[in-house]
Amino acid sequence: MKTLSLGAILCLSLVAVTAGAQQAPWPVNSLERPRPQVIRPGAPVPSIPPPSDAIVLFDGTKLSAWESEEEGKPAGWTVRNGYMEVKPGSGAIQTRQAFGSIQLHLEWAEPAPPHGEGQHRGNSGVFLMSRYEIQVLDSWRNDTYADGQAGALYAQRPPLVNASRPPGGWQSYDIVFIRPRFAPDGGVVSPARVTVFHNGVLVHHDEAFTGRTVHGREATYETHLDRLPLLLQDHGSRVRFRNVWVRELVDDAGEG
Ligand code: MG
Repeated sequence: MKTLSLGAILCLSLVAVTAGAQQAPWPVNSLERPRPQVIRPGAPVPSIPPPSDAIVLFDGTKLSAWESEEEGKPAGWTVRNGYMEVKPGSGAIQTRQAFGSIQLHLEWAEPAPPHGEGQHRGNSGVFLMSRYEIQVLDSWRNDTYADGQAGALYAQRPPLVNASRPPGGWQSYDIVFIRPRFAPDGGVVSPARVTVFHNGVLVHHDEAFTGRTVHGREATYETHLDRLPLLLQDHGSRVRFRNVWVRELVDDAGEG
């Protein structure tokens, strides 16, 4: 067999290195990043009632499971007609109870008619452990950066598809969240992981958060407690929520 020239070997090596290399990550909040495919979710299903082992966080009547993220202040959002609505400027609300790994169901509706564009149209967010955001946004015919649209791990990962419904109608998130584990020295043993269905459509499968949600820069982890409140964001839009419940997930060691 003919011996390969040094040039050919170098060339082959380069191909191998290129093939093995990770695709360069997109810059945070990049407008160049391709938008996920827009799909039409199936017909709206009736609101899913909580199973018997769920902790009901909002049953449509009262905010007793919630408080303001500002210590000592009651939750300032409006409750009416079976839903709670962000009162812009009143601040985020968080659960009185703290959670680790959970299954979470919630339903949300965007203001109709819509107001604003991009990130200013119906922005809110589901902050798991008060830190890791699944974006809530009106992403029906409303362009924004891919890692900032509805269903995104904000500023980290776009949803697999855009399964948004038009504003005004009820949408759902079903989330399986596995909390991060930290070593005694603060190192990350395992990152926070999440599986998300938006309107019944899978938009993340066992995706890792790269750290605490931040805007406009790379996320990093900081060690924290094993249980922390669930938080819903006030981003100035009158987003509505209803039927919010969680099930605590405990592993073989009895840890949540
Ligand atoms: Mg948000």
